[in-house]
Amino acid sequence: MENKRDYYDILGLEKNADAKAIKDSFRKLALKYHPDRNKEPQAQEKFKEITEAYAILSDPKKRQEYDKRGFVGVANFSQEDLFSGINFDEIFGGAMGLDLGNFGGDLFDSFFTKRHHRDNRGEDIRVEVTVPFQKILTGGEEEVKVSHLRLCTECGGNGNAKGSEARICTLCHGAGHLTNIRKEGNVSVQESRTCPDCMGAGSFIDNPCPECHGRGSIDYPEKLLVKIPIGAEEGMILKIPEHGLPSHEKGGKVGDLLVILRSADDPYFSRIGADLWHTETIEVLDAVLGTDIEVSTFEEALKVHIPEGVQHDTILRISKKGLPYLGDTKRGDLYIRINLHIPETISDKERLLYERLRSIAKESHKETWVR
Ligand SMILES: [Zn+2]
Ligand SMILES: [Zn+2]
Repeated sequence: MENKRDYYDILGLEKNADAKAIKDSFRKLALKYHPDRNKEPQAQEKFKEITEAYAILSDPKKRQEYDKRGFVGVANFSQEDLFSGINFDEIFGGAMGLDLGNFGGDLFDSFFTKRHHRDNRGEDIRVEVTVPFQKILTGGEEEVKVSHLRLCTECGGNGNAKGSEARICTLCHGAGHLTNIRKEGNVSVQESRTCPDCMGAGSFIDNPCPECHGRGSIDYPEKLLVKIPIGAEEGMILKIPEHGLPSHEKGGKVGDLLVILRSADDPYFSRIGADLWHTETIEVLDAVLGTDIEVSTFEEALKVHIPEGVQHDTILRISKKGLPYLGDTKRGDLYIRINLHIPETISDKERLLYERLRSIAKESHKETWVR
């Protein structure tokens, strides 16, 4: 930390420099020290240093923190955080953005290849699939339906009706963007912006394909069988490579399909992790005298003994009768919560017995009878 140079010094700026001065200075220095252009051994370090300085000073909030508290004020940003916020394409107009993925070097390499990768890969598709407990227990397959945007076979993807052609944009001559090159010392800086006439398309479709309405692509629904692992966890994501959206760039990789697993609602059980929970309603008399119940799990009919004197809301645990843990031979537990049912109506015969029972109880529990 103590070796760090002041960010304003690094960019050769006064403390009151405005946004344009910061950007101009950064652009100049970045072009000078970019390791693709500058083969001196210190160039890469230097480039990192000016990029970090720019990331802080070009962000009003971070700049304010830095002005107030120095390096401490911005210490909790990683270099990667800082660099990912910089729009190199906007600053350099694509003049060097394309080269950035190629040069070696630990941090920059990982950052820029990731960025590059993200740019030309198609987008991921996310779908949810509901999995019944039975399948979580045994593993198996679930059908997933996804819509795939794919090339329209009618027009081959160009969006034009048969026998007609697209009209090339006269402003950008089909490029989709307008380019301007200006000299900065002995370096030429290329700036480009999207063509305002065709909005980047480069051409106009006057006679759209009736199948895709000029879009060039169509939704084709696809059915896929997805393998559900034993012990699949709530919310886990299964990645099916290259079943996402196609790339916008020619030759770009197709995105992935991300299948998010949800446990199906079950009338009898709910799940917390690998544990299963069930509420069992029993009659007051059974609670007083104790009873045996049967709990049907997904594998067997379990005989469970309810001890006499059980209280409302008591929780009984039956170990290892829950769901399997993912990737493990261990099992979760089964929890049974006791819900006491008190009869809403009783027959005359029952009433006589209850009254008799009450007077006996009063007699035998004199000290504890609450009334
Ligand atoms: Zn079409
Ligand atoms: Zn145009």
